Amino acid sequence: MNDNQLILTLFGATGDLAARKLYPAIYRLYKNNNISDKFAVIGTARREWTNEYFREIVYNSILEEITDEENAKEFVSHFYYQPHDVNDGEHYNKLKELSDTLDKQYNIGGNRIYYISLNPQLFPVITHHLSAQNVLTDNGYNRLIIEKPFGFDEESAIELQQQLTESFDENQIYRIDHYLGKELVSSLDKLRYNNIWSQLWSNEFIDNIQISLAEDMGISERGAYYDNSGVTKDMIQNHMMQILSILAMDNPKNASADGFRQEKINAIKSLRTFENTEDLTANVIRAQYTANTAEGIVGYKEEADIPADSQTETYFAAKFDFEMPRWEGVPFFVRSGKRLEGKYTTIHIVFKKDDPNVENNYLRIEFAPEMRIQFFFNQEKPGHKGGAKSVPMTFKYPTEVESEIPHDYERLINACINNQLDHFVHWYEAQYAWQFMDHIHNYWKQLDGQDMKYYKALSTGPVEADELMKAHHTKWYDCKDC
Ligand code: NAP
Repeated sequence: MNDNQLILTLFGATGDLAARKLYPAIYRLYKNNNISDKFAVIGTARREWTNEYFREIVYNSILEEITDEENAKEFVSHFYYQPHDVNDGEHYNKLKELSDTLDKQYNIGGNRIYYISLNPQLFPVITHHLSAQNVLTDNGYNRLIIEKPFGFDEESAIELQQQLTESFDENQIYRIDHYLGKELVSSLDKLRYNNIWSQLWSNEFIDNIQISLAEDMGISERGAYYDNSGVTKDMIQNHMMQILSILAMDNPKNASADGFRQEKINAIKSLRTFENTEDLTANVIRAQYTANTAEGIVGYKEEADIPADSQTETYFAAKFDFEMPRWEGVPFFVRSGKRLEGKYTTIHIVFKKDDPNVENNYLRIEFAPEMRIQFFFNQEKPGHKGGAKSVPMTFKYPTEVESEIPHDYERLINACINNQLDHFVHWYEAQYAWQFMDHIHNYWKQLDGQDMKYYKALSTGPVEADELMKAHHTKWYDCKDC
């Protein structure tokens, strides 16, 4: 039996993520023959939809991807809907019945993926019923995909992990971090282990590493959610930690997913925790955006559903250190925020200088707005005056190839079908990332907002983040340097 013949049961089938990302992703897999014809999708949620209405929704969500009308119609015919409140045990019997019927109808052979795309508080009740009511099969694989967030601190994450592992083993759990589905993130290790860069990947040659995840958007209608989360829980604990760990990890002992994830875990565990509040404020900046009246933008504290005395950070910048021989003396600068001057996601690997009068050479990996990799190196200035000038060597996919690059969720669902756990977050990665962030949050509680900084909406961020770089004799290498 092939891994790509399966029933995918989607909890949260009427939700935003399903329509915007998941149905188009499954369709792209289908039309490129990465899913076999022996497949079915069962969509579930509380709304009383029919199969026909569900198929209409799925069809409308894939409109932009359709290249062959017949193929698209065939695709949606594999979708079935079952109204289901996840708290109601009786529904799991119906789910099992429908799964068994579809398994026979499509000759699937027992493979199941359960994709939970709803509020994480509901994850445990679902996994409990799936196992207790024998919805899980014993003649194929049973894999669980779950969306973020995985807990809101270490304690809640441990509790969630305990609940999930009563029904699924760790190696059946595929924790999504959609950054791991991005083309350049998923190929970061290939870049690192390229024979040229791998020779340079240590404190012998690297001066510092910088990661910027900047958004110009505000908090939209999500004030209540965001104020409980802030940028550290929204971006740093998950996406930033994933990129950081791939950049910082030591060479895996073997080529397996376990080998890869073990080194990521070791890297996250090696992050130096701050010793006290002084150490924290010298290395970590939290800030909130204030109004930009010329652009008609209100400050964070004036946004809907945000308390006037909120201490939630919309911006975070920090100098992190890895206690690993490879990185002794190499600072990792990270920053992320809302309402910044642009939307960009970049990594800069800044190399050491051998001549104080020239710019550092640096490798720039840009995920957005462009997807490209550039190496900036010093070259003789043209003309008679001499001197050096930093010039780029650029790699960018041609437009016709860009359309072939898998979308984030397409790559991740495909990776789950093919049991590629290295595209997913291991429990220990989540746990140690929380442990590290909990230290910061605990110090912030002690500081009671005294360390909060401010930046004007649509600016480059707080001046203190630039001062942090100056104190370490560097600067943020952002898009303006391109
Ligand atoms: P959403 O639009 O609010 O959808 C939630 C889904 O859950 C709906 O289908 C809802 O359908 C269903 N639901 C709620 N309570 C239920 C219950 N008791 N029984 C059965 N179904 C129930 O949320 P979303 O934006 O799609 O997000 C889903 C998950 O993905 C969340 O964990 C979120 O953090 C994560 N996520 C979302 C995005 C995104 O871009 N949207 C990005 C990253 C991560 P009914 O009302 O019909 O029951």
